[in-house]
Amino acid sequence: MEVDVNQSGNEACIFCKIAQKQMPSNIVYEDEEVVAFPDLKPIAPLHFLIIPKRHLSSLADATEPDYAMLGRLLGTANILAKTKGLTDFRTVINSGPGAGQSVFHLHLHLLGGRPFHWPPG
Ligand code: 5GP
Ligand code: ZN
Repeated sequence: MEVDVNQSGNEACIFCKIAQKQMPSNIVYEDEEVVAFPDLKPIAPLHFLIIPKRHLSSLADATEPDYAMLGRLLGTANILAKTKGLTDFRTVINSGPGAGQSVFHLHLHLLGGRPFHWPPG
């Protein structure tokens, strides 16, 4: 089903603006439900953000009808990682300010191109 981003967007949200193409970004993947684009301030040689077109503030706000979309975010990360030739990569969702979330439109970080340590900071 086609998602009507104008109906489901949040006017004040920068990621809604990117999804609705009201703000420029170099979109690297798009389907009816999600878009992916490079992070403005990358923390790894490859750093993409994968977001639902429909506004949702955070993972903590997801409910059962959103769970298929959540799977699609991860599936898109896998597609992008393969497209970019990454064998090792990290996916991150920060939920809430205390966990490092700074943009309140759900997004999955896809990071690659350098070693990553565990535990994260
Ligand atoms: P968070 O800290 O919420 O997990 O991640 C938000 C990410 O969004 C940060 O890595 C930040 O660099 C990125 N970001 C913030 N504003 C913009 C923007 O306008 N365009 C893009 N492409 N990325 C952004
Ligand atoms: Zn939004």
